Amino acid sequence: MDKLTADKIIEILSEKFPDPRPELHYKTPYELLVAVILSAQCTDRRVNMVTAELFKEYSTPEKMLTLTKEQLGEKIHSCGFFNSKAEHILSASKDIVSRFGGKVPSTTEELKTLAGVGQKTANVVYAVAFGGDAIAVDTHVFRVSNRTGIAKGKTPAEVEKGLNAVLDKNAWSKAHHYLIFHGRYTCKAQKPRCAECEIAAYCEYFNKNRPISD
Ligand code: SF4
Repeated sequence: MDKLTADKIIEILSEKFPDPRPELHYKTPYELLVAVILSAQCTDRRVNMVTAELFKEYSTPEKMLTLTKEQLGEKIHSCGFFNSKAEHILSASKDIVSRFGGKVPSTTEELKTLAGVGQKTANVVYAVAFGGDAIAVDTHVFRVSNRTGIAKGKTPAEVEKGLNAVLDKNAWSKAHHYLIFHGRYTCKAQKPRCAECEIAAYCEYFNKNRPISD
């Protein structure tokens, strides 16, 4: 997609979502990191319910490390994949304490060195907690980018590269939220709501699939 069209889509979505923020609740970069790890294959609503309890007592890596994997697994059970999520949270906490003095590192490169932290999680924490420029490609961003044609790719890394190329750097972190919200509420996975979509005129999928009129 050309830059002008991509910018137009982002402009329309910025009017639709004037104050985009993550729906995950957190007070510190560490809480955000834990919430993002828990959010894999789980709704933000469920994560918020779990962390509301968890963070009452375990809101720092030091406090989290007082739990065994089994104890933490019990507390986060309803988020799904609780064994691997507990393992990742404890390993990342250990790394934060031993290598970063108890503070979540503030660059994507350092974040990615934490156990259980991949490109997507690193980009979310970098952009949201530290105000960095990054587009985390989750399932919604991946789908909406491919359908609209803003950035096409077979992997999240390819889509991220395409988005970075077509959008201005200072739009990256907001674009991440716009595409998530648009995917969550309008451009849904199973049944995109094209009839009520504000960016339909610029969308490759819509223009390829709409019925031909006289
Ligand atoms: S027109 Fe349809 S496919 Fe395109 S972005 Fe909108 S909802 Fe998604």
